[in-house]
Amino acid sequence: MNRAELLQTSERYGTPLYLYDLAEVRDRANELLAALPGGTSLLYSLKANPLLPVVAELRGVGCGAEVSSLGELDVAVAAGFRAADVLYTGPGKSRGEIDAAIARGAELFSCESETELDRLGAAAADAGRRVRVLLRLQPGDRPASGLSMADGRQFGLTATEAVRAWPAAAESVELLGFHVYLGSQLGTVEHLLTGFTCAKAVVDEVVAGTGVPPRIVDLGGGFPWPYAAEGVGCDLIGLREGLTDLLSDWAESAPRVWFETGRRPTAAAGTLLTTVIDVKERESGVVVVVDAGINVLGGMAGLGRVLRLNTTVDNLSAADDRPEVAVDVVGPLCTPLDRVAARTPARKPAPGDVLRVHNVGAYGATASLTAFLSRPGPLELVVDGDEEVGAWRIDARAVPVTG
Ligand SMILES: *Cc1c(COP(=O)(O)O)cnc(C)c1O
Repeated sequence: MNRAELLQTSERYGTPLYLYDLAEVRDRANELLAALPGGTSLLYSLKANPLLPVVAELRGVGCGAEVSSLGELDVAVAAGFRAADVLYTGPGKSRGEIDAAIARGAELFSCESETELDRLGAAAADAGRRVRVLLRLQPGDRPASGLSMADGRQFGLTATEAVRAWPAAAESVELLGFHVYLGSQLGTVEHLLTGFTCAKAVVDEVVAGTGVPPRIVDLGGGFPWPYAAEGVGCDLIGLREGLTDLLSDWAESAPRVWFETGRRPTAAAGTLLTTVIDVKERESGVVVVVDAGINVLGGMAGLGRVLRLNTTVDNLSAADDRPEVAVDVVGPLCTPLDRVAARTPARKPAPGDVLRVHNVGAYGATASLTAFLSRPGPLELVVDGDEEVGAWRIDARAVPVTG
């Protein structure tokens, strides 16, 4: 959409408004699929954006699905995935959650610990069903080369635990292989390849210990895209060749290889439109109060632990010749933490102007502090090019469960 169309849309629906374009989802997904070696699969991590038409679109281009809650499983099934094909992940699956997932038809789980292996085996036996399991492995030592990844020590089994657990586990569940996830936002093809090499190494270490070749290896992802700032993720030139080379080592055992992505196909598809409520000009700078705070954008700031303040905004209402100033953009919540952008340049905002935030199709609406301050959730409008698909609104009010 061009600037005029975006402004029209913000008037028609009001702000704060998330706008997702399925055409962009398709393009970004196809681009990534083309950069992966033939014969491998790509799972979409619903965590990034669980809105039904987005998930259905990714199924349409050939992605699988990776979920980590019953809610995400329900969306995946509604989007057309078979529950049995969905990879169910997450570090804290209770017996109740596992039973409920199995009851919905799930049978493929990423297993996080020896305790969980017992739990999965017992749940399967009691349900009279089989479960298929990938053991999630902790990557070993981090590669030195500038990879910045979240501390993942709470996830998965160590290689030693996995080797120890394998024989007994193979009796209670169908052990298919391994799942390794190094982290998000591996910024370049070189970083991605280093990450996948590291993931492969821990798999090889466990296989050397068990002597059993895996049938499936999920090597994770980390395919990058900027969050809430203009720009694009690294190009993927050389990824396919690098991965083909890496995987040629497994040519003989020939496990099926999977990758995962959340933000890469969804981030660029999402735009946030927000209206300027107030502007305060101070010696220390211009403070712009908008109607989208951390309840709408980035309580998690793209899975950083703290709000990142590198957001950029684009003033759609201001003529190009309006001077640029550095602005602090804050939301409507009664807390000094409600800051959306700091010291970012924008054509000088005035009350009523509509600002655009780019690249918020992933970890936007659902990764925010939606219930904080009891404001209505943002509207989420989905289009496919020129065609409108539908609108949704997250409702996070407390509902009574007793009394
Ligand atoms: C969060 C997560 C993803 C998706 O990460 P992106 O950076 O959005 O691609 C994939 N796999 C696992 C296990 C995750 O936790």
